[in-house]
Amino acid sequence: MKVRCPYKCDYCMNPKGETNHWWLRARDVNQFTLMAWNDLLADQDGHEHICSESCAAKALSRWMTRRSMEFTMPAAVITPVVEAAKRPN
Ligand SMILES: [Zn+2]
Repeated sequence: MKVRCPYKCDYCMNPKGETNHWWLRARDVNQFTLMAWNDLLADQDGHEHICSESCAAKALSRWMTRRSMEFTMPAAVITPVVEAAKRPN
């Protein structure tokens, strides 16, 4: 029963061939980890399938954007409150 639907790249929708060397990335907001392809991991939820260096670059750039948004968003929400609390009036 090795006939599953073929993997597709999460970034360019390329279907994976048997001999292609692909990469996996754990969906982790705190760190960007690129792993060698592993069929067991590829089947699990929470892993992105990446077909090439250029798609890995897209993954990194998307992760960095999301990461920097997470850093700026809470600060933008919290800072005005803190600033207001510091004022004497
Ligand atoms: Zn791709």
